[in-house]
Amino acid sequence: MSAAIAQVQPLSSSRALRGPFDYRLSEELRESVQVGSLLVVPFGRREVLGVVVRLAQRSEIAEDRLLEPLRALQAGVPPDLVELAAWVAAQYCSTVPRALKLVLPPGLTRGQLSGKPRRTRVRRPEHLSVGVLRGAPPELTAEQAAALSRLTAALAQPAPAAASQPGSAAASQPESAAAQQPQLLHGVTGSGKTEIYLRLAASVLERGFGVIVMVPEIALTPQIVARFLERFGETVAVLHSRLTPPQRREEWRRLRSGEARVCVGPRSAVFAPIERLGLIVLDEEHDSSYKHEGDPRYDAREVAAQRAAQTGALLLAGSATPRPESILRMQRIRLPRRVDGRPLPGVELLDMRGRHEALHPRSAQALAELRRDRGKAIVLLNRRGWSNFLSCRACGTVWSCPNCDVTLVLHRAGGYIACHHCDHREAIPSLCECGSSTLARHGTGTERLQDELAATLDDGSFPVFRLDADTAGAEPAQLLSAFQEAPAGVLIGTQMVAKGHDFSDVALGIVLDADATLRFPDFRAEERTFALVAQLAGRVGRGAQGHVLVQTLAPEARSLLDAAAHDSDGFLAGELERRRALSYPPYSHLARVICSAVQGEPALRAASALAAALQPARRSGELSLLGPASLFRLRGRERQALVIKSADRAGAVRAIDAAVQAVASDRAHVGVSFAVDVDPQ
Ligand code: ADP
Ligand code: ZN
Ligand code: ZN
Repeated sequence: MSAAIAQVQPLSSSRALRGPFDYRLSEELRESVQVGSLLVVPFGRREVLGVVVRLAQRSEIAEDRLLEPLRALQAGVPPDLVELAAWVAAQYCSTVPRALKLVLPPGLTRGQLSGKPRRTRVRRPEHLSVGVLRGAPPELTAEQAAALSRLTAALAQPAPAAASQPGSAAASQPESAAAQQPQLLHGVTGSGKTEIYLRLAASVLERGFGVIVMVPEIALTPQIVARFLERFGETVAVLHSRLTPPQRREEWRRLRSGEARVCVGPRSAVFAPIERLGLIVLDEEHDSSYKHEGDPRYDAREVAAQRAAQTGALLLAGSATPRPESILRMQRIRLPRRVDGRPLPGVELLDMRGRHEALHPRSAQALAELRRDRGKAIVLLNRRGWSNFLSCRACGTVWSCPNCDVTLVLHRAGGYIACHHCDHREAIPSLCECGSSTLARHGTGTERLQDELAATLDDGSFPVFRLDADTAGAEPAQLLSAFQEAPAGVLIGTQMVAKGHDFSDVALGIVLDADATLRFPDFRAEERTFALVAQLAGRVGRGAQGHVLVQTLAPEARSLLDAAAHDSDGFLAGELERRRALSYPPYSHLARVICSAVQGEPALRAASALAAALQPARRSGELSLLGPASLFRLRGRERQALVIKSADRAGAVRAIDAAVQAVASDRAHVGVSFAVDVDPQ
């Protein structure tokens, strides 16, 4: 029997519109409307767009007060994505309409709202046109073949998507979809993980199921996209951040209609409208770009695990530097060797204590030798701009941001000093207020390093390329391929240069200020530092003998020593032990609430009120509480943070949500904003 009532969640952030609300379906709509359908419904005197979140036979609302939808849109989302959005809203203390916006067709326009059909032909960007597989795929190494057969076995039982088809033959199989354990491909850089993703994706497609491939930042990982396009052609849709809105809509439409069955994209690809999903690949699973910083502050890795569990798809995470969380939760498959049989490069730590120059003499010498031998190097410095800050030599004034408690970074080529937190910019000062014109520049950023290296090394045939957020406007893929094609030269840049590129002939890697990440007061500091060095080392020595120099003020740091020894097992074991002792994730769940206000006092009062509201849960042992602790002023707002640790994530989220609702609705805290971040990064 078709349902008579549609429960509709209006897509509005207004609190008054918090649904779902019941609407009666006409005979005609009953035939077509399902969970995930988009309806334009009357609401008061307005028309609003809403998503059908449930169907029912009857309503609590009196028959004569029930309204009918005005019309249904052609587009709609698969029912499992509606369920996933509800999960995201609940897990990350957000609202259902906000979470639903993540799964909707991109750019729902007024044209669609008014019901006008809009059908324009869209040209797919050139680089997404079908590539041709040049030659046969490589023959798998024995290790790759063993890994693939384990993964194929994990696919085989039970049939993917059994869970999403209740009543079907598949659902009556003895094993439930929840038996399906997530798999972790822990393979050193260059061990051929991508080839395994490709082969596994091929068997999933053959069985009639769809595939999602998540990559950190698509502009920085053109190779993996190219390989999927080359292997699977038109059935691949790419969610590239540089697509135009019509191109993005077209890729979405191709996925929704089933024309495309593979989606490659960054974290938002986890919401790709693929029905009968069989596999989610999470490449470089340690990468911090999987965390979304806007509301809902979701972690795409957690969402992927949920979507896999919900649909019966296999989750396959891959990394050379997996997170301790994944080691604990997933079944691990090791690929300990590079496919080309080359050893990982030797890594040497260089003590920078007591030194003031940017390059250690060993690094300078290695670069000079490299130029003599016409080789290639990558130099990583995780700090963009020319220098960190400017000060007046006469009176000591430091130029800082008017909105944030941070110094302004000098960008010499651009001719400005800028805040890297709020993007405030001003012209480079020539005089201090005290009248002095002698200004000191402190520290070295990528811009200055490029200038210095070019001055000493570039003789016309030894180019120094730079890749960071300031140069990335010029299409990183082009820059990366220019470096790949250059016979010799240096690529310098921020952590962007350590992402999954597969350069064939880089002989030298240098990391400057490797312990910069360690100085952050964050329990993930060690993990980040280890990953940064190991990932950079991973770009070096493919197809050539290589070595890596790591400059640091902390040469005894365990994360650096382990990275130098390529000992990821040792690092992970030590890290898990430390996390257990301090009960940090994965042995607990973390959430952070930031109370912010223009003045410091109201922010502190709100944070204290929030802490008080959480006291009962704390006393009952449900959670533990750190703070309030003040954070630096950001975008003109003073901030106070509370960190909540708990064993029961869902319970903690409920307690935090209730406490925030109570404090935020108290008039005493008008003007204070509350931001809840579950799984903060
Ligand atoms: P990872 O993702 O583990 O860092 P890649 O998948 O990028 O490694 O593989 C590194 C290089 O090795 C790529 O150029 C890839 O084409 C090549 N490759 C992968 N598997 C094989 C194989 N079995 N034989 C030869 N080359 C391979
Ligand atoms: Zn001065
Ligand atoms: Zn600022």
